[in-house]
Amino acid sequence: MCETRAALPPGIEPISAEEARRLIRLTSGPEFEAMLDRAAAVRHAVHGDEVSLCGITNAKSGSCPEDCGFCSQSAHFKDADAPTYALLSAREIVEQAKAAEAAGAREFSIVCSGTRISKEEELSVIEEAIRLIKAETTVEPCASLGLMREPDIARLQAAGLMHLHHNLETAPSHFGNVCTTHTFQEQIDTVRTAKGMGLKLCTGGILGMGESPEQRVELAEVLRDLDVDCVPVNFLNPRPGTPMGHLKAITAEECLAAVAVFRLMMPTAHIFVMGGREVNLGGRQDDIFRAGANGTMVGNYLTSAGRTPEQVIEMITGQGMSVRPTPDPEHWAFHGEAPAETRWNRRVTEPGRRALRVVRG
Ligand code: SF4
Repeated sequence: MCETRAALPPGIEPISAEEARRLIRLTSGPEFEAMLDRAAAVRHAVHGDEVSLCGITNAKSGSCPEDCGFCSQSAHFKDADAPTYALLSAREIVEQAKAAEAAGAREFSIVCSGTRISKEEELSVIEEAIRLIKAETTVEPCASLGLMREPDIARLQAAGLMHLHHNLETAPSHFGNVCTTHTFQEQIDTVRTAKGMGLKLCTGGILGMGESPEQRVELAEVLRDLDVDCVPVNFLNPRPGTPMGHLKAITAEECLAAVAVFRLMMPTAHIFVMGGREVNLGGRQDDIFRAGANGTMVGNYLTSAGRTPEQVIEMITGQGMSVRPTPDPEHWAFHGEAPAETRWNRRVTEPGRRALRVVRG
């Protein structure tokens, strides 16, 4: 989801965590508006007015032994209703990458449920999919495969993997309220290993999981210190049947304040507003760019539907921004005309797809 790191222009300095803790409490009034304008100015100065799009495929869904409280794919939550299926074939994955590319995605992430990829046959399929994506498309391959160790990362990197996505989910001080089956430190170890191997890091979290505004800043401090390249900011879309299914969505203004603070703390990082955009921001989705975002997702999310590619393009151009073109415009299907529907990752919205559901032992 990330690209080459932008340089910091003269006169722009990241804000301190102390200032961030004050700003993130703003949700209305002239100071709130000034914060958004400041974030927009930093985004414009560092990243310009182009918006990067990324697409994902939920390549393996459900039956996860972890207990992340927000996630309908966990096998712990029997009443949650996520699609459940085994890993797609390499050919299916690359065809989805092509469809995402045609809708304007520059990066494409292969996302799998589970603690980690531990079966050799699954790793081989993902390796082959990455090789095919590199050979047949211009999108930059990314993968989100849970916890990872160096030898497996090295294999995927040799196949052409350019980015590793691994969200930290939340602040270290709140992590125990979100997940008990793996540790925050295990996530940090995966992220640091990938960074040390030269992969671009796409690492962010989910806001609105009962954390305080100050804990959002705490997460941003960790991301800043890890020097991540791209920060996906997700907002909780409470999924029925999960422990967080009852949580009230945080307001659009709280979301925008968080995006602005992340932008001001990490001026050179690519900030993508991702899942939960529709549910939490509602009519204020267009303001994500004023709050400092320079990227977003096109297509469906992991277990819920997103706006159509056409609507995403309208949102971007309506703000005077433009879509950052793919490296090879020949592959870009919409020159003025976006596909009217998401043509990939559609399984997530198909009803009744629970054939492979596995009950945790
Ligand atoms: S977020 Fe990932 S690791 Fe956690 S339960 Fe969902 S699929 Fe499993």
